[in-house]
Amino acid sequence: MAEKDSKRRILLRNVNLFDVEKGIFRNNQDILIEDDLIKEVGKVSHAVDESLIQMDCSQKYALPGLFECHGHFAWLTTVEDEVKKKTLKEFVVRGITQVRDVAGPVQTLKRLKDDISNGEFLGPDIFYSGPMLEKSPLTWEECNKILPRDTVAVNSNQDAKNIIQEISKEGASLVKTFGKFDIDVFKYLLAEATEHNLPVTHDPGPAFFHSVPMDRGIDLGIRCFEHGKSPWPVVLVDDLKSEHDSLMEADPETKEAFRRKVFSLGVESISSTKLRQLIDKMLDQDVYFCPTLYPFKYLENHPEEYNKDEPDKFKKIFEVLYTVSHFLTKEIIKQRVKILVGQDGNNPEWTVNEMELLKEIGLSESEIIKGATIYPAQWLGIADQLGSISPNKKASILILNKNPLEGIQNIKTAHLVLQNGKIVFQE
Ligand SMILES: [Zn+2]
Repeated sequence: MAEKDSKRRILLRNVNLFDVEKGIFRNNQDILIEDDLIKEVGKVSHAVDESLIQMDCSQKYALPGLFECHGHFAWLTTVEDEVKKKTLKEFVVRGITQVRDVAGPVQTLKRLKDDISNGEFLGPDIFYSGPMLEKSPLTWEECNKILPRDTVAVNSNQDAKNIIQEISKEGASLVKTFGKFDIDVFKYLLAEATEHNLPVTHDPGPAFFHSVPMDRGIDLGIRCFEHGKSPWPVVLVDDLKSEHDSLMEADPETKEAFRRKVFSLGVESISSTKLRQLIDKMLDQDVYFCPTLYPFKYLENHPEEYNKDEPDKFKKIFEVLYTVSHFLTKEIIKQRVKILVGQDGNNPEWTVNEMELLKEIGLSESEIIKGATIYPAQWLGIADQLGSISPNKKASILILNKNPLEGIQNIKTAHLVLQNGKIVFQE
């Protein structure tokens, strides 16, 4: 009896509850929360006692706490402490109670995660990869000046073994690979990741000349790819594809000339047959896709933030990257590949901006919600703890005033947010 009394209980009554299997709301459900876990869902009869907080949620809509699926949160440790805390809080206030973080120094992210879970300040629970891994020379080497070991070189099997061991020990939940690799080292890295139970997501790198292109990556066992532009070199029309492949070892100027040519063609350079073949491969192997469309759109309008010296040149580049990413993602969505909602940053508003863009190009509201709840939980292998409102899962729940299936912008109508059973926002 004494043990029972010490438990914190919250009963949310009569709420419309999002069913991630069916993609619809189940009406008039109760949710009983005990400490940090969901205890019961359905019609709950519970003795009313002093320890029970009851909340009537009639006409409200309950979603599992959302994931931001492509975050870079280590950068928040480089700004003023107040700004960091305010930003992290803004995520949970919007119902984003988890982040899949896909590059940053592993110890920095571990500390941030620990501070949040110890209650030092509010913020989403961070599931991180640690550093972005690539063969030398590192594309994003300059980031290491501000965040040491933001990106780490993997040039040998021994490097691969060491880094996987290190990030695993430091609590990483996934591995992020970027750009170029020796293919044998890459295979070894994947085997080590599997050994440590870490799923791998891959960003093939700049627009063209991928050393691990998407089709090859899928054959090697990769089950998630980042950025809408990533399929591009794989799905070029025949003559461009053979020219591209013949230039793999060419000098930088020749490659740059090819890039300019294909950029000027834009979506005209894409073979719909090849795109369909790649999408079929993605579907066959249950590959997830995180398009991060919003940052391309943002940079198209703010190129000076990417490059102060040549904003006009970069405006054109981002314009093409957005158009091509938009086109490729639209086809991928049409064929029902599982989409993850990710923003490629740490801005509390961008996750919803990404949702609105995904809606604009044809992803249904229910698939958008799944792409921020059950899909990331499944991909990370933590669907037994998160991703749906079900008994024994973490009580991280977003309650909305308006139905998000009637317009994804309704996801901004937060009424109540719980994270691990604690009320972190109340209207
Ligand atoms: Zn990124």
